[in-house]
Amino acid sequence: MNFNSHTDAVIAVAVALVNTLTPGERRGRAYRPPAGEERRAAVAEALRTGSRVAEVTPEEAGEFCDVARELREVFEGVARGDVDAAAVRLNALLEKYEARPHLDRHDGEPWHLHFHGAGGTAVRDWAASCATGLAIVLGGELYDRLGVCTAPACDRVYVDVSRNGTRRFCSTACQNRVKTAAFRARAGA
Ligand SMILES: [Zn+2]
Repeated sequence: MNFNSHTDAVIAVAVALVNTLTPGERRGRAYRPPAGEERRAAVAEALRTGSRVAEVTPEEAGEFCDVARELREVFEGVARGDVDAAAVRLNALLEKYEARPHLDRHDGEPWHLHFHGAGGTAVRDWAASCATGLAIVLGGELYDRLGVCTAPACDRVYVDVSRNGTRRFCSTACQNRVKTAAFRARAGA
């Protein structure tokens, strides 16, 4: 299942930014986002998820942390069944980052839709794109495909692109942790 290639790419970037830059828990352990040069490199890597090579300055990396926090609230709203809150949050982000559709043609590509206007900063452009990508998900039939990992001690986020929409974990690592724990519980009972 996919929305379209550009939408899929920015959704993947949104997930990567949230999972890289927001503190919490990851796969059974406390998670602290990287700092300094590591953070800058991590943001560049997250943007590469959208198959764009992007230069990121340390200042921009800091601003991306704020964007990641904002995007996380959307996943958390949907995950706890509060789609209204997620929608209100997204509308606020679309407004804040001046998201607007704009057809562009560059680098020999055919016309394709960008989600931000010209003349913004890189951070605001990405924020507008990520918010629009999530808004497309939330505004469609598959609105509940945004999720937060349900494994113990993990709050990393995901977008469920499986055909049947039954994903509950951020990763196979968490899925396996839960399977193993259930197996042990049965074996011990
Ligand atoms: Zn997880």
